[in-house]
Amino acid sequence: MRRDGETMGLTLAIVGRPNVGKSTLFNRLIGKRQALVDDQPGVTRDRRYGEGRIGPFRFRVTDTAGFEEAKGDTLEARMREQTERAVEEADLVLFLIDAREGVTSMDQHFLRWLRKQHRPIVLVANKSESKASFAGLGEAHRLGLGEPIPVSAEHGQGLDLLLDAIRDKLGDKAKRGEPEEADDDGAAFAAPGEEPEFEDTDAFDEAAAAAHDKAVEERPLQLAIVGRPNVGKSTLVNRLIGEERLLVGPEAGITRDSIAIDWEHRGRRVRLVDTAGMRRQAKVTDKVERLSVADTLNTIRFAEVVILVLDAEVMLEKQDLTVASLVLEEGRALLIAANKWDRIEDKPKALKKLHDRIEKSLTQAKGIAVVPVSGLTGQNLDRLIDAAFALHKQWNRRLPTAALNRWLRAMVDSHPAPLVGGRRLKPRYMTQIKTRPPTFAFFMNRPEKLPDDYMRYLTNGLRERFDLPGVPIRTTLRKIK
Ligand code: GDP
Ligand code: GDP
Repeated sequence: MRRDGETMGLTLAIVGRPNVGKSTLFNRLIGKRQALVDDQPGVTRDRRYGEGRIGPFRFRVTDTAGFEEAKGDTLEARMREQTERAVEEADLVLFLIDAREGVTSMDQHFLRWLRKQHRPIVLVANKSESKASFAGLGEAHRLGLGEPIPVSAEHGQGLDLLLDAIRDKLGDKAKRGEPEEADDDGAAFAAPGEEPEFEDTDAFDEAAAAAHDKAVEERPLQLAIVGRPNVGKSTLVNRLIGEERLLVGPEAGITRDSIAIDWEHRGRRVRLVDTAGMRRQAKVTDKVERLSVADTLNTIRFAEVVILVLDAEVMLEKQDLTVASLVLEEGRALLIAANKWDRIEDKPKALKKLHDRIEKSLTQAKGIAVVPVSGLTGQNLDRLIDAAFALHKQWNRRLPTAALNRWLRAMVDSHPAPLVGGRRLKPRYMTQIKTRPPTFAFFMNRPEKLPDDYMRYLTNGLRERFDLPGVPIRTTLRKIK
């Protein structure tokens, strides 16, 4: 729900060692037509300001190029003199490296200093227009700032990707102070003072992933329970929280958003969101077999993991599928509870039927977990919440770039994309650009030509290889030369 208007008045600083392309990016962002501000001779040529723009997004941008010309005894001193204030004034820092050269010791040195400034950092791998930069991209990942954003300031490429990253980070900022909404990787990967060692890529990836998982685990799981009337949601929730509280909660006058129920499951916090919507539904006396899409959407949007409750006797109705699709379209993780399991006689048969039905009807997230439960007897409720946590972890997953690209090469080798106009289409590298849900960018020439079924081949392969059942996966294709 970020609107561009909200990000007006923000200041971005472009920093990095000499020659990585800071001025070029600065000029690119402010546009050729605009004259430079604060660049008068006589004034120390330290910082230049401009009105930057990427698509609809506007901001103030500071270029710190030229710090190398300033006088100072050590690199550090010069950085301090020239860049400190720019960074201090910035809401967000674009830390540039040269993708072709990879990560140099000067970059590392610079970053060590930069981290102490406690500003959100977006790592930008400039000069990424050529194949020669791929190595640099992998290496940049090891800086521990999350995925580097590949751009070419000179050719104006990758700015949309940069915009995504900036919005992501500014989103973090906007959400600060709301711990349960705190975002994923930003905090885990770029914690101030955290200085990851340069180790071998996989080892580093694993350490970063572990730190990320830990951060995820410290927040309450935002859970929603949805389903048609009469499937047993209220019974289930009452059983989960172990008291008859749900239906006797605060009455009119209290805003719906304030109504959430928290409890603990194996030492981890669970927050049931939007119980107001549930109560409203539960109160429908004639139990009309209808779900309000608006209500469901509202509930889903507050949640990370959504449990869709089915009446196992009725199995999957069209409406259930609609809700399931809605959940996945919204990018939430989906789990299915087959309730009233106590009433089912041939349990194996019922389970198989349900699985088949789901595999056929919900292709957006293959392998969705189905947990047979009984809200009435309490059967399998621990398993249900365990499954919700497991899913939450997958949904938050940050996959290592090196492993992703090894996988991509194998996929492309074993089943190459078609020839178009005598030239082979080839996804060249990929990176995960977001979590919650996992979102991946594939970089290639002529992305517009890649057939949908090839994209499906990649997406399904990704889900299988990296074990992401029930998690909506998003992909985007980016053009490189
Ligand atoms: P600064 O010292 O960090 O401000 O770097 P400059 O903006 O002056 O750029 C240094 C050099 O890199 C110049 O020769 C630029 O033309 C070149 N450069 C900048 N951006 C790119 C890019 O995206 N691709 C390539 N190949 N060269 C670039
Ligand atoms: P909701 O409208 O989805 O909140 O459904 P309720 O929780 O009000 O349950 C609807 C009906 O199904 C009630 O009569 C419940 O007693 C019954 N019910 C709920 N869960 C179970 C269950 O696990 N097993 C059986 N046999 N009945 C259940």
